[in-house]
Order: sequence, then C-alpha cells, then structure tokens
Amino acid sequence: MTAIIIDGKALAEKVRGRIAADVAALKAKGITPGLAVVLVGDDPASQVYVRNKVAACEKVGMKSLMHKLPATTSEADLLALVETLNRDATIHGILVQFPVPKQISQERVIATIAPEKDVDGLHAESAGALMQGVPHFVSCTPLGCMEMLKDIGMADLRGKHAVVIGRSNLVGKPMAMLLLHANATVTICHSGTKDLEAVTRQADVLVAAVGKAQFLRASMVKPGAVVLDVGINRLPAEQGGGLVGDVDFESVKEVASYITPVPGGVGPMTITMLLQNTLMAARGSCFG
Ligand code: NAP
Repeated sequence: MTAIIIDGKALAEKVRGRIAADVAALKAKGITPGLAVVLVGDDPASQVYVRNKVAACEKVGMKSLMHKLPATTSEADLLALVETLNRDATIHGILVQFPVPKQISQERVIATIAPEKDVDGLHAESAGALMQGVPHFVSCTPLGCMEMLKDIGMADLRGKHAVVIGRSNLVGKPMAMLLLHANATVTICHSGTKDLEAVTRQADVLVAAVGKAQFLRASMVKPGAVVLDVGINRLPAEQGGGLVGDVDFESVKEVASYITPVPGGVGPMTITMLLQNTLMAARGSCFG
C-alpha cells in the first residue's frame, strides 16, 4: 500500500480563504482582528516561525503587531508587556513564542496572558475547558491535526484506536483530548512507555509529536493506519540540513493509508488555526 499524502498546504489555503472572508465581514463592522506576537531573543527557528505567523495574519487582512525583545529581557519586563497587551482593545490575541530565555518562567508568562486573548490555548483556563469538553481556545497544532482528519472523512473516530506519542501541554495532551472528544479510544505514549512499538502498532490513527527526527519507522505502524507527523526537525548539515518530521516518511508511506509530509503537512495547518483562534477572539464568540 502507498499512502495518500495529506496536503496540509492546500487545506490551509482553503481554510485561510474562508478566514479572509470572515475577517473582511468583521472589518466591515469596524473590528480588525489583531494579533500581538512577542519574540524574546534571537533563536533562528523561532524567528522563522514568528515571521510566518505575522505574514499569514497580514495575508488574511488581520493586523499583526510584532514585539522583538532582546535575549536579556527580564521576566518582569516581559510580564509588563503582556499586561499592556491584555489591556489593548485593538489586540485580540497574544502569542509569546516559546522557548523563552531561561531567566523567564514560561508558566508565569502563560498565566499572565488574559484567557480571552490566549490564542495559543496554553492558559490553564483553556486547557481546563478542553479537558471538560467545552473548549475555548485549543492549541493550534492539535486543532490543525483534527481539521486534517475531518478533511479525510474521519471527524468521528468511534471504534478507532488513536495513539499519540508525546505528552507536552502544547501538542500531546490537547491532541489526546481532541481525539477523545472525537470518540476515539486514546493511548498516550511517552519516554516511559514500555515496548512502544507494541502500542503504536495498535493505532488506527497515529500522531507523532516526539521531537526526534524520523523516529517512527514502518515496523511501528499498523498497515492502513492514518499517520500525522507533528515533528519539525532540522537534519545536521552533513545530512543535507533539510527539515524532516518525527516520521520516517519514505518507509511509513508504504504502510499507512494516509500520511502528512514535512514540510507541507501539519505546519501550515498550525498557523491556520492560529488565524482561526484570533478571528474567534476578535468576535468574542467564546467569552461574554
Ligand atoms: P516536547 O515538549 O519535547 O515533547 C516531546 C514528547 O515526546 C515528550 O512527551 C516525551 O516524553 C516524548 N518522547 C521523547 N522521546 C520519546 C521516546 N523515545 N519514546 C516515546 N516518547 C518520547 O515537544 P513538543 O513541543 O510536543 O513538540 C514535538 C515535536 O513537534 C517537535 O519536533 C516540535 O518541533 C514539533 N512541533 C511542531 C509544530 C508544528 O506546527 N508542526 C508545533 C509544535 C511543535 P516525556 O514527556 O516522557 O519526556
């Protein structure tokens, strides 16, 4: 079997077209959705992510405000900026790009963002709402993965076993919750999982969010499984320096029924869901 490749770029374009139309309608009512993106330091990967997010906002007609702070920024100064953005009525979403330098607590930054502007879905209030099945803002990457499943006709996963490798607050845990809400039977794997392959081979839907290049091999995949690759890993220069996922794409595509490529899979959908969350924040549709 050779898997059907899920084209995240094409799906993202389609959804962004809808978002652009909704943004135009909101602007006609006098509201321009605004996203503030905060970058602390000069991590090259973060700079690329942030640039892509800002460009995507502008392309759908949203306002995006970029705040670039030096790597020496104190936690107090960053929290003060977040508080200012919380009070700014022209800003509907706030995204602080992680990781932040080590003198700053990521947890305190997340807790300071107003829940109604938490378009990254990381605030405890957002995470708790998702857990209770009444989601406000949901982390963009898992949300993008669910859109991809919907697009291939797998919105309802009743009777399916979904396995998520990874348990981060950003990807693994919210992914597992969304799969559960879609009626899948869900298993979460992590570095303490015994005989990982025995678990992953049971998956009808397999999500890899490990952060290790080409970690998931064909022997770990049940024939016919749907494989979503969240990973973004840069290969060392001696291996060409390109971007690869957490899935060994070449071998796994011979076993899976559907597979997402890297790049051009989950990545574009992540940014699209950020736009969707910002639009939702501007509409105030989930608060008040
Ligand atoms: P993370 O916080 O580092 O989490 C990685 C998870 O993988 C952890 O839960 C870890 O387990 C688990 N893990 C590590 N080694 C393992 C092993 N040998 N067997 C089983 N599980 C193992 O990373 P993340 O933020 O979730 O991101 C994961 C990947 O997705 C990264 O490559 C990241 O760059 C990428 N990413 C992509 C997008 C996108 O837009 N496509 C967005 C976000 C992240 P423990 O908890 O036990 O340590």
